[in-house]
Amino acid sequence: MRAVDIIGKKRDGEELIREELEFLVEGYVKGEIPDYQMSAFLMAVFYRGMTFSETGMMTRVMMNSGKTFDLSEIPGIKVDKHSTGGVGDKVSLILAPLVASVGIPVPMVSGRGLGHTGGTLDKLESIPGFQTRLDQDRFIRQIHEIGVAIIGQTDDFVPADKKLYALRDVTATVASIPLISSSIVSKKVASGADAFIYDVKAGNGAFMNTPEEAHELAVALIGVTQALGCRARALVTDMNQPLGRFVGNSLEVIESIQTLKGEGPRDLTQICLELGARMLVLGETAKTLEQGRETLGQKLESGAGLEKFREMIMAQGGDPAVCDRPELLDLSTRKKDVICPRDGYIASFDTELVGICSMKLGAGRETFDASIDPGVGLFVHKMIGDRVSSGEPLYTVYYRDEKSLKEAVEGLERSVAISTKPRDALPLIIEEIGQEDNTIG
Ligand code: URA
Repeated sequence: MRAVDIIGKKRDGEELIREELEFLVEGYVKGEIPDYQMSAFLMAVFYRGMTFSETGMMTRVMMNSGKTFDLSEIPGIKVDKHSTGGVGDKVSLILAPLVASVGIPVPMVSGRGLGHTGGTLDKLESIPGFQTRLDQDRFIRQIHEIGVAIIGQTDDFVPADKKLYALRDVTATVASIPLISSSIVSKKVASGADAFIYDVKAGNGAFMNTPEEAHELAVALIGVTQALGCRARALVTDMNQPLGRFVGNSLEVIESIQTLKGEGPRDLTQICLELGARMLVLGETAKTLEQGRETLGQKLESGAGLEKFREMIMAQGGDPAVCDRPELLDLSTRKKDVICPRDGYIASFDTELVGICSMKLGAGRETFDASIDPGVGLFVHKMIGDRVSSGEPLYTVYYRDEKSLKEAVEGLERSVAISTKPRDALPLIIEEIGQEDNTIG
């Protein structure tokens, strides 16, 4: 077999067989296939696509490129959630302990932020002492003991994705549905859960800008997950404005704790209940979504979700006192308001720009190896449809230095459109896929 022939086959739009995908992916991981050939292959996939069956095979080959987690000794249906990422999306911090507090094991292997989107690990690591690097034994033990763990990928976890994602990032081949879905699903299924809920974001702060593109990705994620023998459902949700009010690492931990106390913003609470209800149905703990929402609402009210969050923090070496004393988190005391220039209504956000401003403040990373500052970010005072008056704050920026503040303020001033007439925000939940019998919708 020769790499050049496989690349040519894909360039001509033909379907590849499993042995060819194994040859390429395994060869690339071992260093036998050079970057230039893999780049050509990725570009051919970008233009020609892959069938569901090919994407499923690619996903399995990627998943088997390293160690996978075997959680079969943990009783019950293990359920995990994945979001395709957005601005202010701190749902995993709330949802994982909340669902675990109902008795469903939640094994979560998460990622770091890149570009305008934040990452769950970065947020959790703003809690003093919190460790996201647990080995497989400790991960499994923790799920046994408390029912939830959120960790980062170990070096031998789906190494094919690590190498391929880095190459895609520099060869303009990230935005390909088969490549995105094989990348996401290989990591999700390798983490050992049995069922998954996908939160596929649509809007100007998301990977997928339109609901149609998000629909296509959601269908692919469900199809590929099922091809690998797991159950899945998906929600397409709105990302045309930040989710919740805070963007930035320590700030998002604070907002997550508020939400677990039942005091979170409406949009964030709603999305957690909707995704969580589906996790309860997938985990066969609730018969209906209504029952699921009700159970989770009770867990918020009783504080059981917050208690589980405390247990998880403690189990992973962090200081659970942050739940009562947010001042223990590293948060810059330097603040500046971005002021509304005129009366009117918030019509729209450039949500990606909001994320980029947060990154420029230091809350996110421009490249894979950049470091981040947990203590910076922003608070969003007004959301789409809200009335605003000249001189009111639109944002409060938490910053460290004048240079990054200046850049962020310039961007944030451009990130909001104000209209004279009120506008409605899009519904938060745009579409559900795979709801009835977990077949592709
Ligand atoms: N997230 C992933 O993990 N992989 C992709 O390809 C895109 C987003």
